[in-house]
Amino acid sequence: MVFSWIASILRPLGMAFRHIFKYRFTVKYPYYVLETSERYRGRPVLDLAKCVGCGVCAIICPNKAITMVNVENRKYPQFDAGRCCFCGFCAYFCLKSALKLKGGYELSEYNRSNLIYPPEKLVKVPSPPPERKKVVKLKKLSLSTGVTHG
Ligand code: SF4
Ligand code: SF4
Repeated sequence: MVFSWIASILRPLGMAFRHIFKYRFTVKYPYYVLETSERYRGRPVLDLAKCVGCGVCAIICPNKAITMVNVENRKYPQFDAGRCCFCGFCAYFCLKSALKLKGGYELSEYNRSNLIYPPEKLVKVPSPPPERKKVVKLKKLSLSTGVTHG
């Protein structure tokens, strides 16, 4: 009884001690940001000139993150970042290549309504991390331990 109680205290301490000598898995966000991979998708960006308002993106979206809205008597997609799972289907199935996933992962907002991107907001390309943030590069990719950096 006493031994198992002591072991329950020492086991996590031992585990923590072992990890002191391993790579870090986390970064001090928001002061540091992790460099995204080449294949990172991000959120959709709309090219108004190419969009024909067909609505395929809204139909194909598995999370119903896209709805078609009227802008000056034409239909355009409106995007809800709160529903998107960043699968990329909308961009992949757009016949006119009017939607492209163009990075940006700092999409959080204090107000849920700010997660809605009407067409005029959806055309804006996400900005890169501010220069004051240090971008941390990936150091090692291991199948057993995952992504590590430092
Ligand atoms: S973005 Fe593409 S799929 Fe969506 S309405 Fe416009 S043309 Fe159609
Ligand atoms: S990336 Fe996927 S979930 Fe997000 S809007 Fe496009 S189809 Fe919907």
